[in-house]
Amino acid sequence: MTRREYYEDLKRLALEKRTEHCVETGRFGLSEVRVIYKNEGIRIDHWPLPRKVKALYMCGDSDCSVALQPTLPYEPKLFALIHELKHHYRDRAVLGAGVISCGDYDANELIEKGAEVFAAEFIYPESEFYADLQKLGVVVRQASDVVVIKRACTAKVSYRFICKRLERLGLIGVGAFNGVQFQKLEEKIHGVPYFRRR
Ligand SMILES: [Zn+2]
Repeated sequence: MTRREYYEDLKRLALEKRTEHCVETGRFGLSEVRVIYKNEGIRIDHWPLPRKVKALYMCGDSDCSVALQPTLPYEPKLFALIHELKHHYRDRAVLGAGVISCGDYDANELIEKGAEVFAAEFIYPESEFYADLQKLGVVVRQASDVVVIKRACTAKVSYRFICKRLERLGLIGVGAFNGVQFQKLEEKIHGVPYFRRR
Protein backbone atom coordinates (compact mmCIF):
# COMPACT_ATOMS: atom_id res chain seq x y z
CA MET A 1 0.00 0.00 0.00
CA THR A 2 1.40 3.40 -0.91
CA ARG A 3 1.31 6.30 1.51
CA ARG A 4 -1.47 7.90 -0.50
CA GLU A 5 -3.57 4.73 -0.45
CA TYR A 6 -3.00 4.42 3.28
CA TYR A 7 -4.30 7.95 3.87
CA GLU A 8 -7.27 7.46 1.55
CA ASP A 9 -8.17 4.27 3.38
CA LEU A 10 -8.08 6.14 6.72
CA LYS A 11 -10.32 8.88 5.34
CA ARG A 12 -12.82 6.22 4.31
CA LEU A 13 -12.63 4.69 7.78
CA ALA A 14 -13.20 8.12 9.34
CA LEU A 15 -16.38 8.66 7.30
CA GLU A 16 -17.58 5.15 8.13
CA LYS A 17 -17.05 5.71 11.86
CA ARG A 18 -18.73 9.12 11.70
CA THR A 19 -21.84 7.46 10.31
CA GLU A 20 -21.64 4.65 12.84
CA HIS A 21 -21.50 7.17 15.70
CA CYS A 22 -24.05 9.58 14.11
CA VAL A 23 -21.60 12.49 14.06
CA GLU A 24 -22.91 15.86 12.89
CA THR A 25 -20.08 18.29 12.28
CA GLY A 26 -21.67 21.36 13.85
CA ARG A 27 -22.74 19.50 16.99
CA PHE A 28 -19.62 17.51 17.55
CA GLY A 29 -17.53 18.39 20.58
CA LEU A 30 -15.86 16.95 23.67
CA SER A 31 -19.09 15.61 25.23
CA GLU A 32 -19.83 13.68 22.04
CA VAL A 33 -16.29 12.27 21.96
CA ARG A 34 -16.71 11.06 25.54
CA VAL A 35 -19.79 9.12 24.46
CA ILE A 36 -17.83 7.49 21.62
CA TYR A 37 -15.04 6.57 24.03
CA LYS A 38 -17.55 5.03 26.38
CA ASN A 39 -19.12 3.00 23.58
CA GLU A 40 -15.70 1.87 22.37
CA GLY A 41 -14.64 0.93 25.92
CA ILE A 42 -11.72 3.37 26.09
CA ARG A 43 -10.94 5.06 29.38
CA ILE A 44 -9.67 8.64 29.51
CA ASP A 45 -6.98 9.13 32.13
CA HIS A 46 -5.83 12.46 33.46
CA TRP A 47 -2.19 12.03 34.24
CA PRO A 48 0.45 14.68 34.05
CA LEU A 49 2.35 14.21 30.76
CA PRO A 50 5.62 15.70 29.53
CA ARG A 51 4.88 18.99 27.75
CA LYS A 52 5.81 17.69 24.30
CA VAL A 53 3.40 14.75 24.51
CA LYS A 54 -0.17 15.57 23.50
CA ALA A 55 -1.62 12.19 24.38
CA LEU A 56 -0.83 8.53 24.94
CA TYR A 57 -2.67 5.44 23.79
CA MET A 58 -2.34 2.22 25.73
CA CYS A 59 -3.99 -1.10 25.28
CA GLY A 60 -3.54 -4.30 27.23
CA ASP A 61 -5.63 -7.46 26.91
CA SER A 62 -8.97 -5.75 26.90
CA ASP A 63 -8.11 -2.61 28.80
CA CYS A 64 -7.68 0.39 26.56
CA SER A 65 -7.01 3.89 27.73
CA VAL A 66 -5.91 7.31 26.57
CA ALA A 67 -4.05 9.84 28.63
CA LEU A 68 -4.51 13.41 27.55
CA GLN A 69 -2.40 16.50 28.05
CA PRO A 70 -4.63 18.58 30.37
CA THR A 71 -3.22 21.93 29.20
CA LEU A 72 -4.50 21.57 25.63
CA PRO A 73 -7.13 24.09 24.52
CA TYR A 74 -10.58 22.85 23.43
CA GLU A 75 -10.07 22.25 19.70
CA PRO A 76 -6.63 20.61 19.97
CA LYS A 77 -8.00 18.41 22.77
CA LEU A 78 -10.85 17.28 20.53
CA PHE A 79 -8.40 16.64 17.70
CA ALA A 80 -6.05 14.66 19.96
CA LEU A 81 -8.88 12.43 21.21
CA ILE A 82 -9.91 11.55 17.65
CA HIS A 83 -6.26 11.04 16.69
CA GLU A 84 -6.07 8.45 19.49
CA LEU A 85 -9.22 6.81 18.21
CA LYS A 86 -7.36 5.97 14.98
CA HIS A 87 -4.70 4.13 17.02
CA HIS A 88 -7.52 2.25 18.71
CA TYR A 89 -9.08 1.18 15.40
CA ARG A 90 -5.95 0.52 13.41
CA ASP A 91 -2.75 0.21 15.39
CA ARG A 92 -3.55 -2.19 18.19
CA ALA A 93 -1.99 -5.16 16.39
CA VAL A 94 1.39 -3.51 15.79
CA LEU A 95 1.28 -1.96 19.21
CA GLY A 96 1.00 -5.24 21.12
CA ALA A 97 0.81 -4.33 24.78
CA GLY A 98 2.87 -1.19 24.31
CA VAL A 99 2.17 2.49 24.38
CA ILE A 100 1.96 4.99 21.55
CA SER A 101 3.23 8.37 22.60
CA CYS A 102 1.79 11.01 20.32
CA GLY A 103 3.57 14.11 19.29
CA ASP A 104 6.77 12.21 18.52
CA TYR A 105 6.65 12.09 14.74
CA ASP A 106 10.10 10.60 14.21
CA ALA A 107 9.32 7.36 15.97
CA ASN A 108 6.12 6.32 14.18
CA GLU A 109 5.96 8.82 11.37
CA LEU A 110 3.45 7.05 9.13
CA ILE A 111 0.98 5.87 11.75
CA GLU A 112 1.15 9.30 13.41
CA LYS A 113 0.51 11.23 10.20
CA GLY A 114 -2.22 8.72 9.40
CA ALA A 115 -3.86 9.52 12.73
CA GLU A 116 -3.80 13.23 11.83
CA VAL A 117 -5.45 12.49 8.48
CA PHE A 118 -8.10 10.36 10.20
CA ALA A 119 -8.85 13.00 12.84
CA ALA A 120 -9.15 15.83 10.32
CA GLU A 121 -11.58 13.87 8.17
CA PHE A 122 -13.57 12.67 11.18
CA ILE A 123 -14.04 16.11 12.73
CA TYR A 124 -14.64 18.01 9.50
CA PRO A 125 -14.71 15.99 6.26
CA GLU A 126 -12.83 17.62 3.42
CA SER A 127 -15.89 17.57 1.13
CA GLU A 128 -18.01 19.39 3.77
CA PHE A 129 -15.27 21.92 4.29
CA TYR A 130 -15.06 22.58 0.56
CA ALA A 131 -18.84 22.89 0.20
CA ASP A 132 -19.01 25.33 3.14
CA LEU A 133 -16.24 27.38 1.59
CA GLN A 134 -18.07 27.55 -1.74
CA LYS A 135 -21.24 28.65 0.04
CA LEU A 136 -19.36 31.34 1.91
CA GLY A 137 -17.80 32.53 -1.33
CA VAL A 138 -14.51 33.60 0.22
CA VAL A 139 -11.37 33.64 -1.90
CA VAL A 140 -8.40 33.48 0.43
CA ARG A 141 -5.95 36.25 -0.36
CA GLN A 142 -4.90 37.42 3.09
CA ALA A 143 -4.94 36.28 6.70
CA SER A 144 -8.16 38.17 7.48
CA ASP A 145 -9.97 35.94 4.95
CA VAL A 146 -9.10 32.97 7.17
CA VAL A 147 -10.71 34.83 10.09
CA VAL A 148 -13.91 35.11 8.02
CA ILE A 149 -13.84 31.34 7.39
CA LYS A 150 -13.18 30.53 11.04
CA ARG A 151 -16.01 32.71 12.29
CA ALA A 152 -18.47 31.15 9.86
CA CYS A 153 -17.29 27.63 10.66
CA THR A 154 -19.54 25.47 12.85
CA ALA A 155 -16.97 22.68 13.22
CA LYS A 156 -14.86 22.89 16.36
CA VAL A 157 -11.51 23.29 14.68
CA SER A 158 -8.52 25.57 15.20
CA TYR A 159 -7.02 28.19 12.90
CA ARG A 160 -4.16 25.77 12.32
CA PHE A 161 -6.65 23.14 11.13
CA ILE A 162 -8.23 25.55 8.66
CA CYS A 163 -4.86 26.65 7.27
CA LYS A 164 -3.70 23.06 6.82
CA ARG A 165 -6.93 22.23 4.98
CA LEU A 166 -6.56 25.25 2.71
CA GLU A 167 -3.00 24.14 1.99
CA ARG A 168 -4.13 20.62 1.18
CA LEU A 169 -6.79 21.89 -1.19
CA GLY A 170 -4.18 24.05 -2.89
CA LEU A 171 -6.05 27.25 -1.98
CA ILE A 172 -3.07 28.76 -0.18
CA GLY A 173 0.64 28.06 -0.46
CA VAL A 174 2.24 25.70 2.07
CA GLY A 175 3.12 27.71 5.16
CA ALA A 176 1.59 30.87 3.65
CA PHE A 177 0.20 32.03 7.00
CA ASN A 178 2.76 30.46 9.31
CA GLY A 179 3.56 32.90 12.06
CA VAL A 180 0.23 34.73 11.81
CA GLN A 181 -1.32 35.17 15.25
CA PHE A 182 -4.88 34.59 14.19
CA GLN A 183 -6.48 35.00 17.60
CA LYS A 184 -4.89 38.42 17.94
CA LEU A 185 -5.86 39.31 14.39
CA GLU A 186 -9.46 38.27 15.06
CA GLU A 187 -9.55 40.40 18.20
CA LYS A 188 -8.12 43.33 16.28
CA ILE A 189 -10.89 43.07 13.70
CA HIS A 190 -13.84 42.06 15.88
CA GLY A 191 -12.82 43.03 19.39
CA VAL A 192 -12.05 40.84 22.39
CA PRO A 193 -14.94 38.46 23.18
CA TYR A 194 -16.74 39.20 26.42
CA PHE A 195 -15.59 36.00 28.17
CA ARG A 196 -11.93 36.93 27.64
CA ARG A 197 -12.20 40.48 28.93
CA ARG A 198 -10.91 41.24 32.36
ZN1 LIG B 1 -0.57 9.16 17.68
